[in-house]
Amino acid sequence: MPAYVAGKPPAERPGLVTYKLSSNENPYPPLDGVVEIAAAAAGRVNRYPDAGNTELYEALATNYQVPAEELALSTGAVALIFQLVSAYCGPEDEVVFAWRSFEAYPIAVLAAGATAVKVPVADDGRHDLDAMAAAITERTKVVFVCSPNNPTGTAVTQTELDAFLAKVPEHVLVVVDEAYAEFVRMDDAVDGIATYRSRPNVVVLRTFSKAYGLAGFRVGYAFAPAPIAATLRAMALPFGVNVVAQAAGVASLERKAELLDRVDDLVTERVRVVEGVRAAGWDVPDAQGNFVWFAFGSADRCAEFAAAADEIGLMVRPYPPEGVRVSIGEAEANTRLIELVGSFPTG
Ligand SMILES: *Cc1c(COP(=O)(O)O)cnc(C)c1O
Repeated sequence: MPAYVAGKPPAERPGLVTYKLSSNENPYPPLDGVVEIAAAAAGRVNRYPDAGNTELYEALATNYQVPAEELALSTGAVALIFQLVSAYCGPEDEVVFAWRSFEAYPIAVLAAGATAVKVPVADDGRHDLDAMAAAITERTKVVFVCSPNNPTGTAVTQTELDAFLAKVPEHVLVVVDEAYAEFVRMDDAVDGIATYRSRPNVVVLRTFSKAYGLAGFRVGYAFAPAPIAATLRAMALPFGVNVVAQAAGVASLERKAELLDRVDDLVTERVRVVEGVRAAGWDVPDAQGNFVWFAFGSADRCAEFAAAADEIGLMVRPYPPEGVRVSIGEAEANTRLIELVGSFPTG
């Protein structure tokens, strides 16, 4: 089994504020009201949580204008990935996804005893959807489309996704992993909800971990046709989403406008970083998540860049040999990153 390599915390540097830019976390702390509601919920932890997650399902259904039976909640989108792959795939089956992409995919596939079929991303970090469609065989059960793609940052367009879906046989489930949906600012952006609602074989994954800044509480959700959502719920560990996480999720949805203002600020910072590194002569791919991708194609270069970042108090996430992913963080952290690339040889 490949191990999940989590982003590291920054090393302490006396006299220097250090920043964790290695896990695509939201640099903002939770909104005030959310912390108070979560703290109040912690006073009820002698009781099991609501096994049906009733309030959170209702809040999501109202927010996104979808029937609650087309939703499945779990302990992070990662848990939904495992539930889905173990529900639909066994030793004879194949799961197609881009590579590099989210590192939980190959782990979930192996855990189910299935075979991972990795389709290399194009040079610009984008999914090669034609090659992915061509990789589908009669053994394929699931395809992951990660958009924006972690770690390369690029997103597919709705036109590209529709053309791809038209080629995928209906018995193959297509999981559109939109963990970073709220950060997307592009023409012809994917409308995940409209897409799953018009197809019997599309599942959309979302999370409270990134834009909503609740990574530590572990809540993610799927939009899916009702039979698939029911399967995902059936595969969940009973009482998975805890009392505090359920309350925080509901409270965050009530403050969606305020949270999305913060997302706008992060997008503004992302644009500043991308423009800054491009102005320094670097060719970084279009960044649609809360992170930027530096393709090095060399383990040594990845290590050198990560060490140089560490030196100035920035913990980044190397994916040797392909490249290094850097999350958009506090303004000061982003400014340091721009300065770093200005002095680091482009190779
Ligand atoms: C962060 C991330 C997730 C899920 O995160 P959870 O914290 O488990 O909800 C899923 N997919 C991608 C691509 C991610 O980057």
